[in-house]
Amino acid sequence: MRRPCWPWAVATRRGTGSPGRSPPTRTLRPTPPTGSPSSTAWCSPTSSKVRTKTEVSALVDAYAGVVCDLDGVVYRGPTAVDHAVAALSSVQARVVYATNNASRPPQEVAAHLTDLGLSVTGNDVVTSSQAGAGELAKHLPSGATVLGVGGPGVREALQHSGFRVLSADDTRDDPTARVGGVLQGYGTTVTASDLAEAAYAITAGAVWVATNTDRTLPTHRGTAPGNGSLVAAVRMAVTRDPIVAGKPEAPLYRMCADRLGLPAREVLAVGDRLDTDIAGAVTTGMDSVLVLTGVDSVTSTAVAPVSMRPTFVVEDLRALGEAYVGVETDFTWWTCGGDRRRVVDGRWDVAAAGAPIEAARAGLACLHEGVDHGELTQEQARALARQLDVWQ
Ligand SMILES: [Mg+2]
Repeated sequence: MRRPCWPWAVATRRGTGSPGRSPPTRTLRPTPPTGSPSSTAWCSPTSSKVRTKTEVSALVDAYAGVVCDLDGVVYRGPTAVDHAVAALSSVQARVVYATNNASRPPQEVAAHLTDLGLSVTGNDVVTSSQAGAGELAKHLPSGATVLGVGGPGVREALQHSGFRVLSADDTRDDPTARVGGVLQGYGTTVTASDLAEAAYAITAGAVWVATNTDRTLPTHRGTAPGNGSLVAAVRMAVTRDPIVAGKPEAPLYRMCADRLGLPAREVLAVGDRLDTDIAGAVTTGMDSVLVLTGVDSVTSTAVAPVSMRPTFVVEDLRALGEAYVGVETDFTWWTCGGDRRRVVDGRWDVAAAGAPIEAARAGLACLHEGVDHGELTQEQARALARQLDVWQ
């Protein structure tokens, strides 16, 4: 006889009285999201949140604004991701684009997006350099002197925030210059000597803000050290940690919500990375969409901690304009659209096979339940998820 992973669930289904352990106390309770009418209760696909399904409206219609990641979501290098431009052009809510990339000013990012066919201005782009300058403004008066390390986007954001900006060349030439803050972002021409100037200023008492701590940077030639690696180099020489502005920390997303003039709960965050885009949304209190066109996958999502689990999982950005088919569960079976499954003896028990994305959503909800209750190991969850991961 097949042994299910969740004996209590089967006992409940069969009504046999004494289950292997106490039945779950969680129930599906409708909690209407902002502005959406209540109808059928359904369980969010990859978290324990319970939301209320709107019957016909598109996924994005439940939100007043969208904050969208760029690389892996809108474009890969110079090329647009399939369907991204058309999908974003159809969104009625205002969209701002949030990037951890500190090196390019917003206007340059906007020009890139415009080249791809989107109607975007610099005001629709929020960079981690801007968020970093905003963090420095909380600690320093207007007009304070700040050392900017990184690409042109770092200097421009500091100047726009009213700081007097010094470069590493300036502090090398005048080691006695008083520096109130350091904003460290990525730049292709940053040298060891520039990092040394940052370390000297930080040791002397300057407020240290890092635009982001992405350890690596994908390039057309492979993986390069990202700003997080450069920040780590400085950290080796000083005795404290920086304030971090970019995802997964909250300042960048908060600045996006401010730009939209909305509270975080009315903003939908869209991204391709669990450890930055989705974790940042969780930290900030935004619902989030993981789009399977970039870095992270169904497999990595299956073993993600709660702090990195998206509210929604979609194949590509067309899903923003479509009704979202969520997961229903009685904690025995997990059902999404035409897919109905559970895990028995470490294998999928499939009552009905649906579309790949339906299988992925039902499977993720089932696997998270198993992992969270110690019924599945991370390795088991990863192996089971891999069977559903047709996008890898
Ligand atoms: Mg990305």
